[in-house]
Amino acid sequence: RSGFVAVVGRPNVGKSTLVNRLVGQKISIISSRPQTTRSPIRGVRNGPGYQAVFVDTPGSQKPRDTLRARMQERVLDSLSESDVVLFMLDASQAKGGVGRGDRFVADLVARSRTPAIAAINKVDLLPRRDDALPIVDEVRGLADWEDVFLISATAGTNIEPLMDAVVRLL
Ligand code: GDP
Ligand code: MG
Repeated sequence: RSGFVAVVGRPNVGKSTLVNRLVGQKISIISSRPQTTRSPIRGVRNGPGYQAVFVDTPGSQKPRDTLRARMQERVLDSLSESDVVLFMLDASQAKGGVGRGDRFVADLVARSRTPAIAAINKVDLLPRRDDALPIVDEVRGLADWEDVFLISATAGTNIEPLMDAVVRLL
């Protein structure tokens, strides 16, 4: 099994952190500043019987200027060239409901008709486990996901099951 995995989501949701963790190398710049990643960066993870090439995309958002519009086109390119899409959002930001920006990206994913997995990241920032339940419910309604996971890219929570699900789709 081998293929491309596009990692998409709004700026700052933890895409680069997750890709670095999976690839085991600091290939992407991690920053709390949005748009640190301006163009897709690839990283390869080899495992038993598989090779997954991760494409860490620039933060997706509704284009408001030419730079962002160009970045958006690259995100769409990454989606259409990939075998699996990994959509990420920030659980700590979605507590009062999934934001418009996240829904915009989820819609792009749905329209790409590429098999997709949703990863609700930063669950370590939720005070109570139950806080995640309404977010999971809402995310499930956004697209036809193959799987939905609650993860923490920094703490390493649920990364293995997520990776297993990705490999099954390669
Ligand atoms: P990107 O813009 O989506 O690539 O986001 P980054 O990977 O650059 O991460 C943005 C910020 O969120 C950084 O300060 C990360 O350390 C932080 N971050 C990423 N994942 C997690 C997580 O699971 N939990 C917490 N608490 N912070 C995270
Ligand atoms: Mg990044």
